[in-house]
Amino acid sequence: MNIEMADLRRQYHRLKPEIDAALQEVLESTAFINGPQVKSFAVHLAEYLNVPHVIPCGNGTDAIQMALMALNLQPGDEVIVPAFTYISAVEAVAMLGLVPVLVDVDPETFNLNIEQIEQAISWQTKAVIAVHLFGQLCDMQPLMTLAKRYHLYVVEDNAQSLGAECLYPDGKTQKGGTIGHIGTTSFFPSKPLACYGDGGAMITPDDTLAETLRQIANHGQISKYNHKIIGCNSRLDTLQAAVLEIKLKHLKAFNEARIRLAQRYDEGLKGFDAFVLPVKSPFSTHLYHQYTVQVKDGQREKLQAWLKGKGIPTMVYYPLPVQAQEAYKWVARSASDLSVATRLSKEVLSLPIHSELTEEEQNYIIDSIIEFWKK
Ligand SMILES: *Cc1c(COP(=O)(O)O)cnc(C)c1O
Repeated sequence: MNIEMADLRRQYHRLKPEIDAALQEVLESTAFINGPQVKSFAVHLAEYLNVPHVIPCGNGTDAIQMALMALNLQPGDEVIVPAFTYISAVEAVAMLGLVPVLVDVDPETFNLNIEQIEQAISWQTKAVIAVHLFGQLCDMQPLMTLAKRYHLYVVEDNAQSLGAECLYPDGKTQKGGTIGHIGTTSFFPSKPLACYGDGGAMITPDDTLAETLRQIANHGQISKYNHKIIGCNSRLDTLQAAVLEIKLKHLKAFNEARIRLAQRYDEGLKGFDAFVLPVKSPFSTHLYHQYTVQVKDGQREKLQAWLKGKGIPTMVYYPLPVQAQEAYKWVARSASDLSVATRLSKEVLSLPIHSELTEEEQNYIIDSIIEFWKK
């Protein structure tokens, strides 16, 4: 058996005729920069998300940085970020001379603990970056209420949960990335919607912000060689847009495949006290970009080695919380003891889950984990 954390080759082979034809078309057209596929992909993604504006860009980290630039924050302004996250959100904040303020995460969803945000707010706080980790959204409704009360901008980093929906008490739903002022995402090859290189996008319901984001991504230009604001150069390649056009049509199926696999893991792996399964929150759908368990009693490294010996890859997302990262020790301010982030970094383990994983492979993974706990 050849089990991968994300099986890009198998997926490519399944979609090969469609993908190859789309790439061939771009090669023949030679419209490598800003070809028609970039625009049509943006339109189709906006339709899928039910939001007025999608602005493609170079990658998911640029997207966060440009979102913060568009909000016109000033050096020294504070931006609330989760302490347990991929680093991009914190990095973008620090790059712009803003101050990352670390807030602890919820022990069940691993996302921002909304109850701890209020105590982190100072007179310099201007924005919150809600990172939607592993396939489910932060608790957006109370976050937006809080943001309104304190006049904060909300940026949603939705690199890992594109397609996940916020579930409101009245039964309405809204796609993640479209709820705050600006949403961002990444099309890095392992993400839920992925291309064959780097790519990203910014998402916004706001016409004015959309215009500013478009300008920032294109050197701050309002017309050719006329630069109104400081911008950067961050584009989605036409070749990548062509791949994304195809994969967007399959996104629902990719997400559903992982949800089915997650249900099988839930069923097959329950009943071990030191092995805590993922919790699905009541306020978001869960797309299981990662199936992340918590391994107690210091057993994580032993379990990981055991599985490795059986040819089963696993990953630790993320082994160090932000407050323990060398680069941010003196840059970030901590709003609390961040004990949940610290504990999770020692206990989390992500199991293989992707659209191409077969039930046979998954049964082997489940059996191997059970064998570890029973031995
Ligand atoms: C992957 C990822 C990013 C960064 O995306 P890039 O396209 O690699 O820059 C940002 N935030 C989160 C949560 C991610 O998972």
